Amino acid sequence: MNIEKLIRPNVQKLKPYSSARDDFKENAEVYLDANENPFGDGLNRYPDPYQSRLKKVLSKQKGISTDRMLLGNGSDEVLDLVFRAFCEPGKDNVIIAPPTYGMYEVLAGVNNLEVKKAYLNKDFSLNPARIISLADENTKAVFLASPNNPTGNSFKVGAILELLDKLRCLLVIDEAYLDFSGGQSWAKYLEKYPMLIVTQTLSKAWGMAGIRLGMCFASPDIIGVLNKIKPPYNVSKLTQDFAIKALKDKKKFSKYLEVILKEKKNLKLAFEQLPFIKKVYSSDANFWLVKVTNVRERYKSLLASGVVVRDRSSEPLCKDCLRISVGTPEENTRLLTIFNLMEK
Ligand code: PMP
Repeated sequence: MNIEKLIRPNVQKLKPYSSARDDFKENAEVYLDANENPFGDGLNRYPDPYQSRLKKVLSKQKGISTDRMLLGNGSDEVLDLVFRAFCEPGKDNVIIAPPTYGMYEVLAGVNNLEVKKAYLNKDFSLNPARIISLADENTKAVFLASPNNPTGNSFKVGAILELLDKLRCLLVIDEAYLDFSGGQSWAKYLEKYPMLIVTQTLSKAWGMAGIRLGMCFASPDIIGVLNKIKPPYNVSKLTQDFAIKALKDKKKFSKYLEVILKEKKNLKLAFEQLPFIKKVYSSDANFWLVKVTNVRERYKSLLASGVVVRDRSSEPLCKDCLRISVGTPEENTRLLTIFNLMEK
């Protein structure tokens, strides 16, 4: 599989912007190279464009070498970089598997790409044959989220392996919710499948949506291309420092995860007692997709009581469905109190 052939011709030719910090010399003591303000507490300086310290921590934690890693301003930025590096506007297409994360289609739209839709099966399982039959010579990438949003399920290993074996384009597996699933990352297949790209984020189980840190794991060739086009200082020093500190606190992470998973279980038990909840779909993520009667009224009356959930009823295969994130024990009790007061 030749990655070179997938890169946009203009990106192939592109000479990347060389930032002042790229020319950084080991013995530098006085920085007069980047037009920074010399006064300040460290934040007056531009951050490390390659986030070396943070990557080292992540590399140790995930067992992935740093040359297979690119970090961005949330996984949304990382996904955007993939579109911009590989997909030629007005010519190429990408394949998604709805219902799925809405940003794939938005990013495709921004880049003026055709979006081919290989809908999931009714039980939300992946249909690899449908994806393969849609792929043509202009298909640059297939985007999947596993666990998927808004459905919550992970896709079967066999279905994804079939795609990896048969596709002739990039396969992006978005693992934003992986930590909740207890499953293994697809990153372990990176060496075997050079067209695989795996994304992860600190926004979910790690509880750091506010700092914006997304990760991309791929072959060194793909990472090289993405590095070429990324804004030089795309991850702030505040984010890098905060993430390094937080990633070392594994105890806090495990504690939060444990509480969220316990609360998730309790919510399901409570939902099953409510006659207007017709179905609770199985979930490997930190939310439940539930089918209810009078979906719009339920949504509005939750909102009137100050509780916001997501009405997903206009998504394909999600008629009458709400997506409900697992909150703190107090927040979940408040949700259930309102639900219990609702007309059955
Ligand atoms: N992927 C999926 C599947 C998501 O649901 C989300 C956010 N809801 C993201 C990526 C975005 O993550 P980030 O905060 O890292 O940009």
